[in-house]
Amino acid sequence: MSGVAQSARDDTVVPTEPRALLRRHGLRCTPGRLQIVALFAASARHLSVAEAWEELSRSGPPVHPTTVYRTLETLTAVGLTYAVHGPGATRYCVPGEPHHHFVCQDCGEVEGLAHERLREAVGRIEELTGLRPDASGSLLVYGRCPECGG
Ligand SMILES: [Zn+2]
Ligand SMILES: [Zn+2]
Repeated sequence: MSGVAQSARDDTVVPTEPRALLRRHGLRCTPGRLQIVALFAASARHLSVAEAWEELSRSGPPVHPTTVYRTLETLTAVGLTYAVHGPGATRYCVPGEPHHHFVCQDCGEVEGLAHERLREAVGRIEELTGLRPDASGSLLVYGRCPECGG
C-alpha cells in the first residue's frame, strides 16, 4: 500500500496513481489534471488556487491560474478533491488518508484532522443523532489555530 505523504519530495515524476484516480472518476488524463492531482496527492497541506498555482509554476511548465481553478472545480465535482470553505480563499485537498477539517476563523488556515483521532467523536455523533458521518471530509470544525490565539 502506498501512503500519501511519502512521495512529497518527488515532484518531478507524475505517479501512476493520479491516472488511476482520474480514470476511476471518468475523467480524461490531461497533463494539466495529472499535474494538479499529483501536486495535491503529494502535498500534506491544504492549498488555495493561488498556492497551488505557485507550486506548479515553481516545479513545472507554466500553467494559467484559471486552468488551476477550473481543474479544481472539475475534480471537486467528481469528489476527487475536497473544497474546504472558510474565511479567505477556498482550500483544496485530495482525501488520501481519511480526514476531517479544521478551519481557522481568523487566518483561514485549514488543517486535516485524521479520522483515526476522531473516531470516538464521530461514534458519539452517531450515537446521539442516529446520523452516520463518513470517515472522510464530513466534519468541518471552525475555530482558532494556535497562532491566532486558539
Ligand atoms: Zn483535507
Ligand atoms: Zn489562525
